[in-house]
Amino acid sequence: MDFDLTEEQQLMIEAATRLGAEFDLEYWREKDERKEFPAEIWQAICDAGFCGIAIPESYGGAGLGMLEMAIVVETLCAAGGGSTLSQIYMVNPIFGGISLSKFANEPMKQELLPGLVTGKETFAMGLTEPDSGTNTLAMRSFATKDGDGWRLNGQKIWITAVPQATKFLAVARTTKLAEVSSKVDGISLFMIDVDREGLTHQSIPKVGTNTLPSSSVFFDNVRVEPHELVGTIDGGFRELLDVLNTERIVTTSGLIGTAELAIKLAAEYSRDRKVFGDKPIGSYQSLQFPLAEAKIKLECARLMNYKAASLYDQGRPYGSEANMAKWLAGAAAALATDRAMQTLGGMGYSKEFHVERLWRDARLFRIAPVSEEMVLNYVAQHDLNMPRSY
Ligand SMILES: Cc1cc2nc3c(=O)[nH]c(=O)nc-3n(C[C@H](O)[C@H](O)[C@H](O)COP(=O)(O)OP(=O)(O)OC[C@H]3O[C@@H](n4cnc5c(N)ncnc54)[C@H](O)[C@@H]3O)c2cc1C
Repeated sequence: MDFDLTEEQQLMIEAATRLGAEFDLEYWREKDERKEFPAEIWQAICDAGFCGIAIPESYGGAGLGMLEMAIVVETLCAAGGGSTLSQIYMVNPIFGGISLSKFANEPMKQELLPGLVTGKETFAMGLTEPDSGTNTLAMRSFATKDGDGWRLNGQKIWITAVPQATKFLAVARTTKLAEVSSKVDGISLFMIDVDREGLTHQSIPKVGTNTLPSSSVFFDNVRVEPHELVGTIDGGFRELLDVLNTERIVTTSGLIGTAELAIKLAAEYSRDRKVFGDKPIGSYQSLQFPLAEAKIKLECARLMNYKAASLYDQGRPYGSEANMAKWLAGAAAALATDRAMQTLGGMGYSKEFHVERLWRDARLFRIAPVSEEMVLNYVAQHDLNMPRSY
């Protein structure tokens, strides 16, 4: 077992650290306040080749793996953006990149992957629906055969970055639930234009992750062309699992970056702030211990995430590791951001000191992209071989 990163991976961390430093905490505070997409840093990330890390070289990417992606995302997120920056990775190199590079037909790969790498093409993915929620297999969106293509009808909810996206990975049933032998069958993936006739979206007011809107999406008889099918007709859900599990790896990286940044901000503040004589507040164990606990959790989450990413890169099963890492990183980031706020006292609650943004944004990832409860369900069933409780 070798825990050392390669020289190339170390150089990537150094380059990501330099890039992240160009967009400081003030940049992110302003973007958050204006509810504005951080276009400048995303373009810089694409220009540096960091969007295309895991895209094959033949389509303009670096042809590296999920481990390199995890390392770069956690470094960039720790520089200032926190977990909201990892969401831009989820929607582009994961929703777009993994689905296309693993499952799309050759012309679609050639058409879209080079643009993904440069930032010209941007993506969103619609799985969650208002009525089915976590029970995604009960989705109602349906693509009915229409000549050589399909007509898509239905509704999605909470879809990230739709107004920014050029392409939309739509998950829909193509065979009715009542007609399939297994619930995971009968679902297909389609990559369609966001500005397609019949596709509309409406933004949802929310607590945080302000730089990326979340939307309800409506499909009203949307025409889907035959070449827009990604992967296998009726077999899309099994293929989508690679998209969802690599999304967990990137989510974990974002949370690790957030936790690191929150702990750093809290430790810095606590070393300077004095309220009882000459002793800084950072000398009190009541403030030190929870931050130390968060550090322990984040380092464990990091190791488990690297394991998940390495297994994916080797083509081996990685679902349990990706889920466990995400659960632990969610707990680490929740503790780190909450205790960072506590350490800063009243200033933790102000906009000026950035911790409140990290706290708001990190909270999302105990619910999405997979809730803590569903990770525990997964581990109980798959790793403990216990009966399904629902
Ligand atoms: C800001 C934001 C961005 C998102 N982005 C996207 C996106 O881009 N694309 C996309 O498709 N989706 C997206 N989602 C959706 C997200 O994946 C879901 O919100 C999440 O999976 C939970 O589903 P739900 O909100 O319907 O909760 P529900 O399914 O209603 O669950 C509510 C609660 O019940 C618990 N629960 C449900 N079933 C069980 C069970 N069997 N055992 C134990 N507990 C259970 C859940 O864990 C949760 O705590 C986003 C959500 C948010 C809030």
